[in-house]
Amino acid sequence: MQQASAGKKLFEELAYKPKPAWDRLKGEERQRVFTLAEGYKAFLTAAKTEREANALILSEAEKQGFRPAEKVPGRLTPGTRLYYNNRGRSAVLVVVGREPISAGFRLVGSHIDSPRLDLKPRPLYEEEGLALLKTHYYGGIKKYQWPVHPLALHGLVVLSDGRRRDIRLGEEAGDPVFCVTDLLPHLAYEQMEKKAKEVVSGEALNIVVGNLPYPEEEDVKERIKLAVLKLLRDTYGIREEDFISAELEAVPAGAARDVGFDRSMVGAYGQDDRISAYTSLRGLLEVRQPAKTAICLFTDKEEVGSMGNTGARSRFFENVLADLAHREGAESVDLAVRQALARGEALSADVNAALDPSYQEVSDKRNSALLGYGINLSKYTGARGKSGSSEASAEFTAAVRDLLNRHNVAWQPGELGKVDEGGGGTIAQFLADLGMDVIDAGVAILSMHSPFEVASKVDVYMAYRAYKVFWEPEK
Ligand code: MN
Ligand code: MN
Repeated sequence: MQQASAGKKLFEELAYKPKPAWDRLKGEERQRVFTLAEGYKAFLTAAKTEREANALILSEAEKQGFRPAEKVPGRLTPGTRLYYNNRGRSAVLVVVGREPISAGFRLVGSHIDSPRLDLKPRPLYEEEGLALLKTHYYGGIKKYQWPVHPLALHGLVVLSDGRRRDIRLGEEAGDPVFCVTDLLPHLAYEQMEKKAKEVVSGEALNIVVGNLPYPEEEDVKERIKLAVLKLLRDTYGIREEDFISAELEAVPAGAARDVGFDRSMVGAYGQDDRISAYTSLRGLLEVRQPAKTAICLFTDKEEVGSMGNTGARSRFFENVLADLAHREGAESVDLAVRQALARGEALSADVNAALDPSYQEVSDKRNSALLGYGINLSKYTGARGKSGSSEASAEFTAAVRDLLNRHNVAWQPGELGKVDEGGGGTIAQFLADLGMDVIDAGVAILSMHSPFEVASKVDVYMAYRAYKVFWEPEK
């Protein structure tokens, strides 16, 4: 007996095994997990596009004393809170540190775009008694998941004179919703024989929007399309050509929900990656006077490769650093930016795949994150031999691990699936390209990229804690 007990002790001392994050919560902290989740669900329900998320983030920040950079005059002092808004689709929030920017910064970066169905430039048509909208899907979706699910339309139309019409239809009680249809089983013999990626083709993701013909004049062409166009003109003041300068996104309709008898999980569309956006925002709002300047980055276009002037590969973030260095009175702004980037440290805040009990075969169980075991740290992402990925150094990984351990933040290491199974990427590599030390740190979720992703509330809480203490360690 004595012998076994010594061995057991030694095993506990030497071996590593992540524990359920719930077990770390003390006293009223459990209640705080559920309180945070209420705010998170409200955020997911309100912010279903990158523009909606951006606007909500900035309005929350303004309530907590952040001001647009152009309205912050003169030199920056430690604790100054400012933000940079990039075209309403990506943003940077800054809490100025006690050290100059050239000494480095601490950044948490997430993305606020999610997979969805975008409308094509000429979306509206009439066929066989229905008016429909053509779509071009955005990001990596399993196309068969999108039919027969209530959809809402979000976005804006910009008229040729520059006036803007916002559309958000399908979310409120009493709103109509939209949908993509699917074949009935009775006639799906051939469809069911197809490969999953061919079951629903991209050109079949057409959204049903009308069935009512323009009244009385039977000799008018395309009376259903005409009736829809008339409604659009009467409601929003738009004509068919205006669709060409529009950003309209069809997303799953409805509010974020609790999942489970125990309400321990959140189910909603768009948690990749607004789970990181929300938790990092909440963390930053509590940062007061950090040593290193605290930066919270919200980017767009991650789901399509981070390109464009609002994606993580744009110059936007470097321009922000240049502005900060300039306001600090740096002798050489260019040098200060380069030094800041070389000394910067970042958490790439993005979701990872949690081990799914029903699909264990795609994951290496020993190296997969579990739902409810805390924030997931991934040294690298990529596919086929770490291709297309940066990798966090052992030194930086150790520092982050130590920080989280010291603050009792539950974390777990996790890879995205088996080595040969596939893979994916995040913005980590683009931040690392600029010179920063970067590690992926985010929540592991189930059913990623689907219309209903699932996350554990305790992981949401641990992510918020992790980002907060990364910026401003607690004494
Ligand atoms: Mn993501
Ligand atoms: Mn994604």
